[in-house]
Amino acid sequence: MKFFNQLLFLSLFSTVLFANDYNYNLKPEKIAENTYVFIGKKEFFNVKNGGDISNSAFIVTQDGVIVIDTGSSSKYGEQMLKSIRTITSKPIVTVINTHHHPDHFLGNSAFKDSEILATKYTKKDIVDNGDLYIGNLFNLTYKWMQDTKLKAPTKELDELKDKYINLGKHKLKVIYLEGHTSSDIALYDEYTKTLFASDLIFYNRVAATPHANIENWIKALEDLRKVDFKVLVPGHGPISTGRESIDQMKRYLIYLDKTLKDSAEQGLSVYEILQLPKPVEFANLAMIEDEFERSVINLYPKYENALMK
Ligand SMILES: [Zn+2]
Repeated sequence: MKFFNQLLFLSLFSTVLFANDYNYNLKPEKIAENTYVFIGKKEFFNVKNGGDISNSAFIVTQDGVIVIDTGSSSKYGEQMLKSIRTITSKPIVTVINTHHHPDHFLGNSAFKDSEILATKYTKKDIVDNGDLYIGNLFNLTYKWMQDTKLKAPTKELDELKDKYINLGKHKLKVIYLEGHTSSDIALYDEYTKTLFASDLIFYNRVAATPHANIENWIKALEDLRKVDFKVLVPGHGPISTGRESIDQMKRYLIYLDKTLKDSAEQGLSVYEILQLPKPVEFANLAMIEDEFERSVINLYPKYENALMK
């Protein structure tokens, strides 16, 4: 009897195992004329979400498709392409990587014949560290990363003379900013008034700051606030139609900066900072415990060093 129980367990186990066919279930959500997004989960990389934690987008123009960010694995890129094909058969002309974080470019390899654009800084980081990112994500998401090959950007955005990507009726202004990383680009489609804010905006989900410069980031948010948009697509979290996502992001960065500054002045340890009560507004945001802790560990030494100067 015991043997049969084991057999039953094994068969159930393999059903569960093989039921996971590494399908991200990407559903394009229409947010403006010709404009679609795939909204990622408000989570950190894990074996369940396979790294589907950031937003990507595409615009269907009469002259072809523009793709903005390609997700965190080749599987994501391939499934994204499949999903785009349910909407249009037009060629994917341009792919844009908004910055060098791996959840935004590791799907590039699915877009074989497309021009892939990124800034000079982003392209270099992807070339230098892309394989390292693949290794890291393999440790976090395991088989979702299988067969993921690095495909670096093919062209530097800095070469664009007029700072616009034009395709069909869509005129995308490239806004060069920094703060989340040393090179972040936002894209503003003047035709639909859609602002693709990249990871400069995390909405209803606490920001990741491994390469952040908070001062520059706050300046970038002030620039984004001036854009006359109807819809804002953040790098993580839901879309917004007003400036609430920008304002939430700014309030969080100010809170993080002030907490670290005050803590350094009081000589608190990392452990003591993590015990401090959090304002209700942020205590309820997704990923608050994990991201706040990561930020404190990453950024606090800079604040302590600044005091010693
Ligand atoms: Zn990022």
